[in-house]
Amino acid sequence: MARYTGPVCRLCRREGMKLYLKGSRCDGPKCPIVKRAPAKNFPPGQHGQRRTRRPSEFGLQLREKQKVRRFYGVMEKQFRKSFAEAERRGGVTGDNLLQILESRLDNVVYRMGFADSRKQARQLVRHGHFMVNGRKTNIPSYQIKAADEISVRPESRRREYFDGFTEVLQSRRAPDWLSIDASQLAGKVLNLPTRDQIEVPTFNEALIVEHYSR
Ligand code: SF4
Repeated sequence: MARYTGPVCRLCRREGMKLYLKGSRCDGPKCPIVKRAPAKNFPPGQHGQRRTRRPSEFGLQLREKQKVRRFYGVMEKQFRKSFAEAERRGGVTGDNLLQILESRLDNVVYRMGFADSRKQARQLVRHGHFMVNGRKTNIPSYQIKAADEISVRPESRRREYFDGFTEVLQSRRAPDWLSIDASQLAGKVLNLPTRDQIEVPTFNEALIVEHYSR
């Protein structure tokens, strides 16, 4: 299936919650989830306003899976792979799944403050602007490990986009599991994020586990 390129606010409206897909706009008053009166916050599309039936168990599980998948901007096939890996690791599968998604290089670049959204971070990575441990890495799904160093490539630092980024990084707050060296446009992974270090909207990972265990 091709990557979704349509309007992203629809996705938030479908899930009935903010998925933070549009960068700084998501925190402003123009976010449709905030702007619309609660009564008008119905799902998008021709049938969005229909009286809703009580969702089935499958429906609830599916919606939860879609929320997380859309939040991280991951396609179904990749999401399934991440789930299989989460199961293989042992322990709490839901926690493992979030840790795997959170450890993707595009997400780490976003969390470090180099991009306004995961989509933008993904593009920066695809265009080869980042190095992991000194080696150019342009795979958004690349899994970072503890003690990895992520930095902007020297050739890319001269680009207009990274002009004045030291101040930008200083003004942004990175999560506890990352340490940022703003002057070097680099950062280090202190540890792989634990569930309580992962800042996400309220997700019920158990429903995703049930969804794939059917
Ligand atoms: Fe749109 Fe962002 Fe609001 Fe979602 S959170 S509806 S992407 S502005």
